[in-house]
Amino acid sequence: MPGSEYFGPEERKEVNDVLDTGVHFRFNHDEQRKGVWKSKEFEQELCKFNKVTYAHAVSSGSTAVITALAAVGIGAGDEVIVPPFTYIATIEAVLSVGALPVFADIDDTLCLAPDAVEKALTPRTKAVCLVQMCGATARMDEIVAVCEKHNLILVEDSAQAMGASYKGKFAGTIGKVGCYSFDFFKIITCGEGGAIVTNDEQVYRNADMYSDHGHDHIGSNRGMENHPVLGYNFRIGEMNSALGLAQIRKIDKMLSVQKANKRRLKETAAKFPQITFRHLPDGEAGDSATFLCFFMPTEENAKQLIEEMNKQGVNQITGIQYWWVNMYHYIKNWEHFRNLKSIAKLPIHAFGAPQDYNNLPIERSDDLMRRLVTLQIKLAWTDETLTELCRRFENALKIVLG
Ligand SMILES: *Cc1c(COP(=O)(O)O)cnc(C)c1O
Repeated sequence: MPGSEYFGPEERKEVNDVLDTGVHFRFNHDEQRKGVWKSKEFEQELCKFNKVTYAHAVSSGSTAVITALAAVGIGAGDEVIVPPFTYIATIEAVLSVGALPVFADIDDTLCLAPDAVEKALTPRTKAVCLVQMCGATARMDEIVAVCEKHNLILVEDSAQAMGASYKGKFAGTIGKVGCYSFDFFKIITCGEGGAIVTNDEQVYRNADMYSDHGHDHIGSNRGMENHPVLGYNFRIGEMNSALGLAQIRKIDKMLSVQKANKRRLKETAAKFPQITFRHLPDGEAGDSATFLCFFMPTEENAKQLIEEMNKQGVNQITGIQYWWVNMYHYIKNWEHFRNLKSIAKLPIHAFGAPQDYNNLPIERSDDLMRRLVTLQIKLAWTDETLTELCRRFENALKIVLG
């Protein structure tokens, strides 16, 4: 939980500014707010950090993905290519705009494989919702080439990847629109919050309207303007933006500490030639380093390593993820989704599922996920803690791999 490890007087100060004026709404109340516009300021900082023209903050990463899809015109019956390894919010977002998720394999980047995207195309495919899983990007040149070749809109769900980059561009700023999450577990946190970023003015305008009941926000009095389109309330509040503002000012430091801590853990794992690491298409420089991700030679080895790390107490120092079984981020563990269980009828029930979600051709993903082990990188570790973590990790690896 990186950002949340760094709460301090800076967050308190920003939040107090809001409490002092009492204006929690991001619009209007010009006099009472005495110049305090935390959401606007947060958006400006998001643009500056990500080197992008427009940012619009919303209530969560989930509503950011919904807003992004809607803002680029994805709607009922459109097929959207998604990865089977993501937080399920990506899939929920596709369903909520009435579109149909089509799954394609991931590769050793832990993100969508470019060749698999191409294989999953149908005449109804309108977009690719690429997830930069565990804080680093896909093979972006190839993904962008496939999208351009087939006239697909590239939406980046960079909820977990703010600060990751590819050839000098930040995750979220490579496709038509990108999305970030600022929930409690992400690299910077607003408590709850999210944002979309784009260089396309119309996409930004659409997102701004869609996430506030279709208000066009033209003119000074929000509430009395025009409503050119339908929308929802996905607004962020000033308190959440205040937290985000304090946090984004610390992101460079967080990234550098994370990278240094990850390097030490990776060096430990690299002593074992049987281990292969998650492929980083832009090298270590492009990794936000929220996780160390590596593949064990076999599923058996991965399971043994998890057990051994628990015995050695690695789990007392950091989070261990074996996503294949113990986490909620792979389609194998989404029984409710695979069988499209919902409280009420969804558009996908009317259209029909585009694939048999219980029998997807994703053997490549299954093989990777069976062998994938990740360790969470924390910011607050002291040098002693990290040394002890590396010692325990190495012991576990020695027992399993010899
Ligand atoms: C966390 C996450 C989301 C959703 O973000 P929330 O702020 O929790 O709604 C969406 N996509 C991915 C890949 C995520 O990791």
